[in-house]
Amino acid sequence: MDYTIARRRMVEQQIVARGVSDQRVIEAMSAVPRHLFVEAGLQSHAYGDAALPIGEKQTISQPYMVAVMTAALELQGSERILEIGTGSGYQTAILSKLVKRVYSIERIAVLAGRARKILDQLQLSNVNIKIGDGTVGWENQAPFSGILVAAGSPDVPQKYLDQLDIGGRLVLPVGDQKQQILVRITRKGKDHFEQEQMMGCRFVPLIGEQGWQGS
Ligand code: SAH
Repeated sequence: MDYTIARRRMVEQQIVARGVSDQRVIEAMSAVPRHLFVEAGLQSHAYGDAALPIGEKQTISQPYMVAVMTAALELQGSERILEIGTGSGYQTAILSKLVKRVYSIERIAVLAGRARKILDQLQLSNVNIKIGDGTVGWENQAPFSGILVAAGSPDVPQKYLDQLDIGGRLVLPVGDQKQQILVRITRKGKDHFEQEQMMGCRFVPLIGEQGWQGS
């Protein structure tokens, strides 16, 4: 099955038509084969306007949400980015096309393993994946020019603010376990952070020391 047309339509109707204008983000989303990041039985839905299950009670984010969050980082190409919640690896793949290096943390080992395999198949070699609790960030690789959190957090974990470079941006969903607000925080100076509320959203919970309590 050739998904090129479905992918083009996804980009036009769900991303460009809804106001995402960052040309590099549009190109990355036009290039990455999203269907490879879902199981075979769901591939025909991969370019639909929705999140999809990826097993382990987790989801691959809706394409529009991936585009909005990526564009919110305002990437130029030379950045080192921290991603929390590798999941399927789809958002990781988009980021890897747009920056110098992606550091991605996933707490569920099977998902991290699957993501690693697909990223390797696609020869996206500028990605480091770590299995563990991403709510504490990735201390020995900090600071980051951008941090993207793909799971809903009860509030803003202090470590993300600490690990953000001056001029860097942190994008994360903040709220309760059912719904959140997508928040962007820009570090303007050592102790100067600016916060914007972007839109309502729904993500699976961020589980860990600085997030929700897990089972
Ligand atoms: N960007 C991914 C989203 C996956 S859903 C995609 O589009 O496929 C969010 C992911 O965050 C899940 O895989 C979940 O296991 C992971 N997650 C939740 N809490 C985490 C934590 N503290 N550290 C790392 N990953 C976490």
